[in-house]
Amino acid sequence: MHGGGKIEYDAIVVGSGASGGWACKRLAEAGLKVALLEAGKPQSDQNFSEHKPAFELKYRNRAAEMIRKTRPVQSVFDVCNEYTSDWFVNDLEEPYTTPKDQPFLWMGRLRVTGGRTNVWGRVSLRFSDWDLQAASHDGFGEDWPLSYKDLEPYYDLVEKYVGVTGMAEGLEHLPDGQFQPPMPLTCQEALVRKRVKEKLGRTVTLARSANLTRPQNGRGPCHYCGPCERGCVTHSYFNSAFTTVADALRTGNCTLISNAMAHKVLMDEKTNRASGVLYVDRNTKETQEIHARVVILCAQTQESTRILLNSATRESPNGLANSSGALGHYLTAHVRSGGGNGELPAFGERPTLGGPVKPVGIYVARFRNLKGQSPTKNFLRGFGYEGGSNVEFNWGAPGFGAVYKKALREPRVNFDLTGFGEVLPRWENRVEIDRSVKDIYGIPVVKIYIKDSDNERAMIKDMGNSAGEMLEAAGAKNIRTYARPSAPQWALHEAGTARMGTDRKKSVLNQFQQTHDVKNVFVMDASGFTSNPCQNPTLTIMTLCVRSCDYLIGEMKRGEI
Ligand SMILES: Cc1cc2nc3c(=O)[nH]c(=O)nc-3n(C[C@H](O)[C@H](O)[C@H](O)COP(=O)(O)OP(=O)(O)OC[C@H]3O[C@@H](n4cnc5c(N)ncnc54)[C@H](O)[C@@H]3O)c2cc1C
Ligand code: SF4
Repeated sequence: MHGGGKIEYDAIVVGSGASGGWACKRLAEAGLKVALLEAGKPQSDQNFSEHKPAFELKYRNRAAEMIRKTRPVQSVFDVCNEYTSDWFVNDLEEPYTTPKDQPFLWMGRLRVTGGRTNVWGRVSLRFSDWDLQAASHDGFGEDWPLSYKDLEPYYDLVEKYVGVTGMAEGLEHLPDGQFQPPMPLTCQEALVRKRVKEKLGRTVTLARSANLTRPQNGRGPCHYCGPCERGCVTHSYFNSAFTTVADALRTGNCTLISNAMAHKVLMDEKTNRASGVLYVDRNTKETQEIHARVVILCAQTQESTRILLNSATRESPNGLANSSGALGHYLTAHVRSGGGNGELPAFGERPTLGGPVKPVGIYVARFRNLKGQSPTKNFLRGFGYEGGSNVEFNWGAPGFGAVYKKALREPRVNFDLTGFGEVLPRWENRVEIDRSVKDIYGIPVVKIYIKDSDNERAMIKDMGNSAGEMLEAAGAKNIRTYARPSAPQWALHEAGTARMGTDRKKSVLNQFQQTHDVKNVFVMDASGFTSNPCQNPTLTIMTLCVRSCDYLIGEMKRGEI
């Protein structure tokens, strides 16, 4: 649409979450001038409230209906609460649509520096070649255009900086990393680990998590206060606001432009190059242009894809970088509606209010459809579990007076297992622009289509049954398992709508997350995932992003971009 403007920056990075934080750190530290466009407001330690008791809040954190008024979708997930709600998108101002028969809750939409890393669960797991070349093993979909060897040094680099507490297990399909010393397992977690290994041969390990156990880069080790999703004044968990973005800003090469809602990528039609980004200032609602040699989208999967689709031009009427027609398609997420729980002994532990809280539980490594196993008949790919134990008061105790007080203090230990399974990348799960609806900034919104297939349904059933099997092996009592349809609530791990591939007719990005069609446009969030292995995505998002930035820096030095 537009011609080229004055080049003000070397690169524009859109979004300051897990990927955008790394992109601006890597580029700014290499000496490039970077503009970081972030739709949200600035974040600061003053906003963190992990040590604030609920009685100090205006509504004592008990007026959920107040939050539901403006954030009916975001508040379905309890991390959006009175402590944190103003970090989240106002669902009424920035809606999205779905078909009536395919409800989808798009939660975890943050509007603050750091994006989802402010409130994420921090589980940080590597992918393996078994994941990256899954299509070659089972014939479904496409292999990733890169291998574990390509990612390994970048996983090392990212883990060392992020700080991941974890235990080495020597599993080929869940590679070990550069771990900080592990947080200890609870007695119940240790019991489950031992019995599940002995009886079922499955690995229950500490959930590898982006929480420090020793000091690093001015960040303190975790002091076990518990609610990481409210922020952390000691910066002990990884949030890009106070790590990667802060480093980038410290170089003096990165300018953070807050409240800047990117609408579209500006194109110079004569050269087929992006010239910058058109954005809306969220405070004034005025549109602005900003220009640079390179545009890097890191706004989260659906948001980055929305920007590309909204950047359609006469030459690319179906969206920028969409000559393949694949843009928007192959939306994947994780199913997480199968699992179970049961009661275990307290081993002398007493319930407390305000005692230390370990912010990290356990992870059960995938055990289905692995190398050397006969494949499961009912479904392709696999799932892992997150879980752990809590020693709680017996809130349901009967009686009153002294008898009640005594009964209340009788510890109850619940052990929970929640499955996280791969959703196959399928053409029909997709996002597109809904021309009939705009957000309050006048930007057309996305319509999201996703539903379970037989593969996910069979996997969820197995998640429930296998959770029951493991709880039984551990000796749990009162075991309850569940296996529900995903809709409307998949895990907040969307990926795949601008997939990477070697064949430009079938994919949007190359292995360095550069669009096949426009060489100075990159998409460095999970949009590029060719498939969505069951391990949580963010460690791989960050790893790919750093690798792609190094490629970009090399190409810019050579004058190729
Ligand atoms: C409650 C919760 C728990 C999670 N737990 C885990 C976990 O345990 N492990 C794991 O691996 N992952 C987890 N995730 C997912 C993880 O947070 C994301 O995978 C990761 O943060 C995605 O990184 P990103 O860079 O793509 O986007 P984000 O971190 O979401 O950042 C995107 C940023 O872009 C900005 N933005 C969006 N649109 C625009 C626009 N048009 N213009 C300008 N800026 C824009 C947003 O304001 C936001 O700041 C969790 C997520 C949530 C919400
Ligand atoms: S539990 Fe640890 S990482 Fe989480 S907020 Fe408290 S100190 Fe920070």
